[in-house]
Amino acid sequence: MRILMVTSEFVPLAKTGGLADMVAALSAELARMGHDVRVVMPRYYGIDIEGCEKVAGPLGVPLGFGETWAAVYETRSGSADVPVYLLDHEGLFGRDGIYGTRAEPDFPDNVQRFTLLCRGAFQLCKSLGWIPEVIHGHDWPAALSSVYLNTWEQIGPFEKTGSVLTIHNLGYQGVYPKEDIHITQLDWEHYHGSGFEFFGKLNLLKAGLRNADILTTVSPTYAREIQTAEHGHQLNGLLRHRSDDLFGVLNGMDYKDWNPEEDSLIPQQYSEDSMAGKAINKAALQKAFGLPNDPERPMIGIVSRLADQKGFGELCGPTHGSLHDICSDYEVDVVILGTGDQWCEEELANLDAALPNLGVRLAFDNRVAHLIEAGSDFFLMPSHYEPCGLNQMYSLRYGTLPIVHRTGGLADTVENLDPKTGEGTGFVFDLLTPRAIYDTVGWAVWTWYNRRELIHTMRIRAMQKRFLWEDSAARYEEFYQWAIDRRTGRVPRTW
Ligand code: ADP
Repeated sequence: MRILMVTSEFVPLAKTGGLADMVAALSAELARMGHDVRVVMPRYYGIDIEGCEKVAGPLGVPLGFGETWAAVYETRSGSADVPVYLLDHEGLFGRDGIYGTRAEPDFPDNVQRFTLLCRGAFQLCKSLGWIPEVIHGHDWPAALSSVYLNTWEQIGPFEKTGSVLTIHNLGYQGVYPKEDIHITQLDWEHYHGSGFEFFGKLNLLKAGLRNADILTTVSPTYAREIQTAEHGHQLNGLLRHRSDDLFGVLNGMDYKDWNPEEDSLIPQQYSEDSMAGKAINKAALQKAFGLPNDPERPMIGIVSRLADQKGFGELCGPTHGSLHDICSDYEVDVVILGTGDQWCEEELANLDAALPNLGVRLAFDNRVAHLIEAGSDFFLMPSHYEPCGLNQMYSLRYGTLPIVHRTGGLADTVENLDPKTGEGTGFVFDLLTPRAIYDTVGWAVWTWYNRRELIHTMRIRAMQKRFLWEDSAARYEEFYQWAIDRRTGRVPRTW
């Protein structure tokens, strides 16, 4: 099958979150299965094009009231070994930031930037003479690709091309002033007709969700949750309407980079059969965070974006956080690695100064992330919502038992300890409150001190769990065929 991925992120070229890992890993797996997979994305300023091949002449892309020109480079970056086409446009992408910067989180010309990506994808395929059977778009930056398939590209070379749109995080929708619709070269009738209208504004993701043949998201539980008012970010009505076409597929994880048996970033490798190395890593972790060396004291790790979504309001919000009480009341150490919202960084720095058994590192550091996974006994992830989540999967592989809120991908990957049978791979709570975090951490700590043999069997069970890309890719293969069938009318549309 000829498959075109349209994306704003791709590891290792540009990454802000799990989306970048997912597109690279899925592309690699599909290519391995024999599909002709190609990727198109912007060439951000930070992507070095030295060594990339320049493709054909400049590409003319209809945009706004005219046409703009982009250069195209091809690279085969990273482990995926699939062609990645980079659309290069100095005015729109020649700056720092993928969606924005710290000072300006959402660039005001993002409609131009991502229209260039989506419309450019079609122009590129035409110029290459390579017409995909499926276009797989990721999140709001790629949402216009499915709208164009039903408008400008409805007739012509793409008339049989199916579309799949994956939601990696419904919290980000690409909402802009409605006047920006002219940039897409779609008439006003499309503002309502193609589903852009969103409380008087232009919502790119919403139009994509209306137009794509198949919708997916990155875990089965998240697929259900986003159809509810609580997690639907005001698109739950539309998603419920399209529930027959909406599927949740758990992302796989990278068992090469995250393998305690071969991890070169940690002081001592270890496995289910030989767990002694984990204690060495714990000692190294205690040392790295200036905590006393004590193998008997349970260590709780966190690696996270510091944002409300991840539960930091409940952990360290100025009025009601549970982290202070956890560190004060329990015989534990807690280490936190993260960067993010300023309020959160400040609160954590204050707590770090006040609590001797808390270590905080405000940085993005992959080596420390690996050390925390390897050296901790528990991994805390009290996310409000978690479309899939990678860190709890890494934790399972490293025998670091997750303590999680039962939501999204966390619910689909971590099994709660059943104290009667001893089954389970972690500790799960249902309602996200500071009290629930405090109690559940308390339960884990109690189990550590009183039922150590249970911790051991849970660890082994956790380390043997696998979330494989080959399983997920097989599901996507199926969806691609359904998308083509819907597009070509073999399956009647349900909306
Ligand atoms: P999200 O994409 O919502 O941020 P995920 O759990 O899906 O959350 O993915 C986060 C990824 O980013 C993981 O690979 C995690 O290890 C990594 N990460 C997050 N914060 C840091 C940090 N401060 N240092 C190193 N790696 C980090």
